[in-house]
Amino acid sequence: EVVIDRGEAEWLGDAELARRQSLGRINFDGQVAIVTGAGAGLGRAYALELAKRGAKVVVNDLGGARDGQGGDTAAADKVVREIIEAGGQAVANYDSVSTPEGGDNIVKTAMDAFGRVDILINNAGILRDRTLVKMEPADWDAVMDVHLGGAYNVTRPAIKVMRDQAYGRVIFTSSAAGLYGNFGQTNYSAAKMGLVGLMNTLKLEGAKSNINVNTVAPVAGTRLTEDVMPPDLFQKLAPEFVTPLVLYLCSEQCKASGQIFNAGMGYFNRAAVLTGPGATVGEEGVFPSLEQVAAKIKDICKMDGAVEFHDLNASLGPILEAWSPKKPAA
Ligand code: NAD
Repeated sequence: EVVIDRGEAEWLGDAELARRQSLGRINFDGQVAIVTGAGAGLGRAYALELAKRGAKVVVNDLGGARDGQGGDTAAADKVVREIIEAGGQAVANYDSVSTPEGGDNIVKTAMDAFGRVDILINNAGILRDRTLVKMEPADWDAVMDVHLGGAYNVTRPAIKVMRDQAYGRVIFTSSAAGLYGNFGQTNYSAAKMGLVGLMNTLKLEGAKSNINVNTVAPVAGTRLTEDVMPPDLFQKLAPEFVTPLVLYLCSEQCKASGQIFNAGMGYFNRAAVLTGPGATVGEEGVFPSLEQVAAKIKDICKMDGAVEFHDLNASLGPILEAWSPKKPAA
């Protein structure tokens, strides 16, 4: 942002001041954004900042309890009111992301109100924490249906619109629980890592239509985390610390696709699936024995010089070349 002191502002005049202040600023003028679960927490913070920077926003929220039960229009309405009072544009949608009909209707809300969809932030979420043994099918299904099903239900109709526009930015919301594991969250972890798989393939399918997809694993003080965080830490983890990265990933300036970022407290890092160099076992063309595998397990597990692969085909390279490595070019 361009910093202009007060003395300068007086003689510049309003129009020139606005022009100078907008230099270098990332904005979303003329763009339409859908944020699911935007009635509270992280989604609300994204919606407010998108609107502040010129986007027209669909504020989707079912307004239910933390475990996904119930529903209320007040959550989405309140955020829409906040946006409009601040001079922005927004409409509410109260559908659950957990059904295909809900997903279609969320995208329809954007098309009816604003005629496009440039940005989709899949953010709606619930929790049903239990250890696997105690986890009933209803707890498993509810969490899968909102997080992973919800992303499918909303992203599919949104992608159709983005493909026709030849432009789009999609965000999936993962979690450290999925990327790394967290006791008592098998359902949530599975759904959150499932979103990474969804992104990995959608990255390939969207590329030719200029549709970029990325994933954020946030850490923030919200209703989902209020009882697991000490109060002083909760304050320091305001969702607004996550917003800048997510909005950057939603911008035209950002060319990244298929990447995962951890974000919280103003600290950001990238996470990735890495593959080690591996080892051949036994002799070429002969089924190795499990004793031979056991004898070489250290080499198999090595991660020195680990790499990222762009897609499945790239990952096959090392397998196909393991027994006959390509000679380095002379
Ligand atoms: P939050 O509870 O404050 O916000 C989630 C919102 O989603 C709520 O307003 C809720 O009503 C809405 N919602 C729930 N089910 C819905 C449905 N079926 N359809 C539409 N809306 C629905 O929680 P938050 O922390 O802001 O969570 C936002 C996202 O971030 C979630 O996907 C969550 O899993 C993820 N996340 C949060 C943290 C964190 O530290 N807060 C960590 C990792 C991941």
